[in-house]
Amino acid sequence: MRKYVIMGVQGSGKGTQAKMLREDLDLAHISVGDIFRWHVRQHTKIGAQVKRAMAAGELVGDDLVEEVVRRRLGIHDWNYGFIIDGFPRNGRQAEFFMESYDIDAVIHLELPDDEVRRRVLSRRLCPNCGMDYNLIADRPEVEGRCDICGHGLITRADDTPEALEARLTDYHEKTRPVLELFRRKEVVHDVDGRPPVDEVQSAIRKTLGLSGYRADD
Ligand SMILES: [Zn+2]
Repeated sequence: MRKYVIMGVQGSGKGTQAKMLREDLDLAHISVGDIFRWHVRQHTKIGAQVKRAMAAGELVGDDLVEEVVRRRLGIHDWNYGFIIDGFPRNGRQAEFFMESYDIDAVIHLELPDDEVRRRVLSRRLCPNCGMDYNLIADRPEVEGRCDICGHGLITRADDTPEALEARLTDYHEKTRPVLELFRRKEVVHDVDGRPPVDEVQSAIRKTLGLSGYRADD
């Protein structure tokens, strides 16, 4: 059984990397963001709490994140292990998590802030059909138009430089103590998040001692 944590700033590609590992290793991919989005869509009590926090411009509280993760892991559908994304959020949670679940490795995707800005601020969205674009990696065929439905593309409301700076500051403040704790336990694997997706995946597998990743599989 493999128990991994994946950490990385927004735009580092951690969701994509986690999914690639999940598919190959039969892991449960536990994404706190995905769980919250599900609750919002299903209009659950947790969903209402998440919406309140977002409307107030706040992050969802650490306690609520912890509760959601505990419940999710309590389902025990992870026979081959799990890869968790978006947790732990503070040193206390990290300590608890290490002790309770005996984490094998923490994959830390490193991406310089400048590269985060470049990636995040080039994101565009079609408000009509929901298709995502990126002016660096996934350009639309016609500038400013959705390839699928032809609607004009927009920037997400929270992808402004100011909002991004606030998220970056928050990320570094929150992540530092968690990473420090994991480093003391010698479970952190730092991986450069700048190369193309396949190369990052290969580097992750190499450092974790897994069999190689072949893009043509
Ligand atoms: Zn569209």
